[in-house]
Amino acid sequence: MSSFTVKVPNIEIKYTQIFINNEWHTATNGKTFPVFNPSTGEEICRVEEGTREDINKAVEAAREAFRSDSLWRELEPSARGGLMRKFAELLRRDVEYLSQLETLNNGKTLVNSEIDIMNSAACIDYYAGWADKFTGETIPSTPDLFIYTRHEPVGVCGQIIPWNYPVLMMALKLGPALACGNVVILKPAEETPLTALYCAALIKEAGFPPGVVNIVPGDGPNCGHAIVIHERIDKVAFTGSVEVGKKIQENAAKSNLKRVTLELGGKSPLIICEDADLDFAVFVAHEAIFHNAAQNCIAASRTFVHSKIYDQFIEKSVALAKMRVVGDPFDDNTQQGPQISKQQFDRILKYIESGKKAGAKLECGGTKANDQGYFIQPAVFSGVTDDMEIARDEIFGPVMSVLKFDSYDEVIERANATPFGLVAGVITKDLTRALKFVQELQAGSVWVNTYGAMKFQAPFGGFKQSGQGRELGKYGLEPYYEVKTVAMKLLSKM
Ligand code: NAD
Repeated sequence: MSSFTVKVPNIEIKYTQIFINNEWHTATNGKTFPVFNPSTGEEICRVEEGTREDINKAVEAAREAFRSDSLWRELEPSARGGLMRKFAELLRRDVEYLSQLETLNNGKTLVNSEIDIMNSAACIDYYAGWADKFTGETIPSTPDLFIYTRHEPVGVCGQIIPWNYPVLMMALKLGPALACGNVVILKPAEETPLTALYCAALIKEAGFPPGVVNIVPGDGPNCGHAIVIHERIDKVAFTGSVEVGKKIQENAAKSNLKRVTLELGGKSPLIICEDADLDFAVFVAHEAIFHNAAQNCIAASRTFVHSKIYDQFIEKSVALAKMRVVGDPFDDNTQQGPQISKQQFDRILKYIESGKKAGAKLECGGTKANDQGYFIQPAVFSGVTDDMEIARDEIFGPVMSVLKFDSYDEVIERANATPFGLVAGVITKDLTRALKFVQELQAGSVWVNTYGAMKFQAPFGGFKQSGQGRELGKYGLEPYYEVKTVAMKLLSKM
């Protein structure tokens, strides 16, 4: 095991309280929870722990901000977009500080944190553009009946996000909600609340009226659950595990049948055909699994490789994985930081053991990469078969599982034989073959000769148990407005 020291810069932690009504609050029950640096395992600070009472307070503030005569509701839609643009501008102004804070709390490389923050600003800007452009329709009817639709905001939206992209997940959720004129109660993941709280201060600075965005840190079973079951919250949007997603849907139905959108996990296939340029395919497959320390819902965690190029693919992939620089995420040369927590770290190492026991060959990596923190050397497994746990479960860690296939019909069937259906990738030069895969693969996005090509303009979401509804693009607005049909009878002729 190589050993390195993480040089943690001195980063001031400015906000650790609950943000409601544009003000900072301590938790009603007086409790706080610790937040850790995954690069060292050390505590960074403690954060106020929101519970049911704090969610109640946030709902009061949000309801007030959503009254039909409130400042927010009376704003011109383009002025709403203006506030969002201002928020995006502030994200860009503070990109240096925010990136350091994100890397401190999440462990992703500083370069990736910067990319995430700039993408978050771009996402908010994109949705700001929609604020005055999502219009209803007039409906053809008889001359004496005028029918049209209005798109009205849903109301108070609860948003529950995970730890893998703390600021970006927040931007993806806030963008469409605010563009449509909703008000929000957002709960960041308990592992990574720090950047969300800093963003709260930016939201206030941008000029959003009190109560429009409320940020309540806390855990899932208490704070998150309180959002899900609240009778006066109209919608909940969630990103995270399938297990919790199912609970959320059930609990939301049991309370007030609030609207639910879910972005859940994946076990996404990347299929490498025999005609692929091998070096290109190896590079794409490497990034497709190992990006963000493989803590990625879109991670290509099943790499299917045609038997004719399988051995060469393994050889080159192992060489590339061995070259991947695992280290201090604040160092510009580092490609992979730590996993988010001890719990995830242990879980991933267990999966690596299970792969070995099941008879797959661990070609490289798969071991602890430093004395300190939760670093794992990128693992490549060959000889993986469909029945193995490492080919079935979402590992959320740096484990490449390479499976062999012989025929295209066979690989389509195997790629689809999973409860998940988030994304899929294909590497081939043959257009007909590519189109066949596009048609047959059960996934919300299919990427051909690329992977992870997500754009704010294009919808994203899962088939099957990978989710419900879509985020991003125009489709991403749909969960955030109600359609009201208005029919007006003309009483007399002039
Ligand atoms: P999780 O689903 O447990 O948590 C995600 C969010 O949901 C957090 O904010 C959490 O506090 C909240 N939550 C948890 N239980 C809740 C409940 N009962 N009611 C309401 N909210 C609740 O995910 P995790 O613990 O962060 O990670 C576990 C697994 O989830 C990972 O290993 C991975 O498989 C998956 N995951 C997927 C994504 C994704 O983007 N699709 C992101 C992170 C994690």
